[in-house]
Amino acid sequence: MSFSSLGLTPQLLPTFSQLGYESPTPIQTEAIPAILAGRDVMGIAKTGSGKTASFVAPIIHQLASQPLAKHRQPTVLVLVPTRELAEQVQQVFVDFAPAISERLICRAVYGGVSINRQMQAVSRVNVLVATPGRLIDLVGKNAIKLDKISTLVIDEADKLLNLGFRQEIEQVLEQLPAQRQNLLFSATMTANLEPIHESLLNEPAVIKI
Ligand code: AMP
Repeated sequence: MSFSSLGLTPQLLPTFSQLGYESPTPIQTEAIPAILAGRDVMGIAKTGSGKTASFVAPIIHQLASQPLAKHRQPTVLVLVPTRELAEQVQQVFVDFAPAISERLICRAVYGGVSINRQMQAVSRVNVLVATPGRLIDLVGKNAIKLDKISTLVIDEADKLLNLGFRQEIEQVLEQLPAQRQNLLFSATMTANLEPIHESLLNEPAVIKI
């Protein structure tokens, strides 16, 4: 299996080589075509499986065909449990974005640091990676609007729920347009994931690695 056979725009292929990825991992082989087909995805895959690139690359592919509005509001939202993961995921977006456009802006916001600089940072953004609590604070301060989100990723969903973020996730979901693609990734399929899985995903491709 090669990256070129997964349906991605050829513009993205050099990025995989630059990152030293020679061939797709199992989660990438299955998730990339499903995401490109516009399907919702439930991916059960651990950190280290290559799950981040499995959603970042097809999302960047999709952004290539969208006009980057002058007054930017995010169209892609990635919810993550921790600051470390927010920074890692944002970095992978930053690795892939230039292949499509130098003008694509990807930012991460998280708690534990001053909110003021983040308020400015999110005033123009295409892809937003966020921890749920800080995102709700930013929405509450009118620093960001989520009504243009067309792709939602919930990454490490089991960890988000274990850290007690269920209510915050539901608050975020209320802000999003109904018409959107939903991608849920989790290291484990635990019982507490079921309500969120059922309310969020529409006939998902279920991928277990
Ligand atoms: P992740 O599971 O997304 O946290 O990725 C784990 C690590 O695997 C990261 O350091 C990636 O850079 C790396 N990685 C992701 N996809 C590939 C691939 N296809 N080939 C080699 N390394 C990869």
